[in-house]
Amino acid sequence: MAKTMAVNAGSSSLKFQLLEMPAEQVIAQGVIERIGMDDAIVTIKYDSEVEGLIDDSEDEDHITFSKNGKDKKYENVLAMKDHQQAINFMLQKLTDLGIIEDFNEITGVGHRVVAGGEWFNHSVVVNDSVLEKIDRLADYAPLHNPANAMGIRAFQKLLPDALSVAVFDTSFHQSMPEENYLYSLPYEYYTRYGARKYGAHGTSHRYVAMRAAEMLGKDLKSLKLITLHLGAGASITAIKDGKSLDTSMGFSPLAGVTMATRSGDVDPSLVYYIQEREGLSNDDMLNILNKKSGLLGLSTISSDMRDLLDVQDTNDHARLAVKIFINRIIKYIGQYIAEMGGVDAIVFTAGIGENSIPVRQAIIDKLEYFNVSLDIEANKIRGKEVEISTKSSRVKALLIPTNEELMIARDVESLK
Ligand code: ADP
Repeated sequence: MAKTMAVNAGSSSLKFQLLEMPAEQVIAQGVIERIGMDDAIVTIKYDSEVEGLIDDSEDEDHITFSKNGKDKKYENVLAMKDHQQAINFMLQKLTDLGIIEDFNEITGVGHRVVAGGEWFNHSVVVNDSVLEKIDRLADYAPLHNPANAMGIRAFQKLLPDALSVAVFDTSFHQSMPEENYLYSLPYEYYTRYGARKYGAHGTSHRYVAMRAAEMLGKDLKSLKLITLHLGAGASITAIKDGKSLDTSMGFSPLAGVTMATRSGDVDPSLVYYIQEREGLSNDDMLNILNKKSGLLGLSTISSDMRDLLDVQDTNDHARLAVKIFINRIIKYIGQYIAEMGGVDAIVFTAGIGENSIPVRQAIIDKLEYFNVSLDIEANKIRGKEVEISTKSSRVKALLIPTNEELMIARDVESLK
């Protein structure tokens, strides 16, 4: 049977999900971490009841059953010199474990690509010219695009007959009008360097918006939505007529709301001021803004929302970090309601949005003015699709777990 793989290749890691399409059934998922090291970690989770599955006894030492006795996990630590070797190992292991019979069963591979610039406003079949553009867009995403391109090339070598598709984090936001994507800088920087807002998390915003319309039983094009992707990286998008109208991330994913370790919006002159006083190089300063700021920088204790919520009653720094996180989100929601001239539903997704009952409550409590009211019982849930506003609430609040892998697999299907 034909299978599609959704791939997210990082500089030293590779995440994947294998789906049966068009049935949209997840057959296996996993991650290879520490690629390039002698102790790379391979993890593959799969349903042991998938039809045709046979176990290879050589792998027995590495396989454990989950509590329900149905799902299995393969884990191993071994040397992995590069992405090519890691992908080869993973495909071979999927075959050994009986998850696929041979490589040719995988007829499509969809790759997450971080930066698509202005070249890509939708997902595309990868050819030489697409790959060259992804390489050139490394200027916009130096840590991600080269790794994404490496993943594409490695899969193309091992699965030359599978359709290779690039799905860009930025393409959903290409619909933003120029008054939203341009910065108030000399115009020539836009024409010369592409200095503008591109946004990110587009695949996630696109997926939850589509599900929101399905849950509400309305045409997406008739809705005004604000989607809150609140994970370690966080972004907020205003969606009108089914299209991204505005989004909180900017030229890079550093802009917008407070994140786990990223600062979000900061006055640029303050950055320069701190840099001078502290004698920091550009790279050092960028590292502080990306890795040492946000919840971690403010709280001084953790970048993880769970840790902060646990101690916020007794720790002033943790309480302040949570307060600022909520405050920035509220500001963006207010801005987007004004921009769209109203809102029909607010959607929560990603790690914090899907799992944090108190954060969702704190956000909705602050929106009373806009006629959103929380159903406290319905909100006591994690990781499931549910309407968390009351029946009488004029503006709906929805909890929708994101599923970027499914969206990627669907894009591959639609291009077959
Ligand atoms: P990433 O951007 O890495 O994909 P995720 O969407 O997985 O991030 O979100 C990870 C974050 O979700 C963690 O840093 C943690 O702060 C938060 N999170 C997960 N579970 C909970 C929870 N129960 N309560 C609060 N925050 C949570």
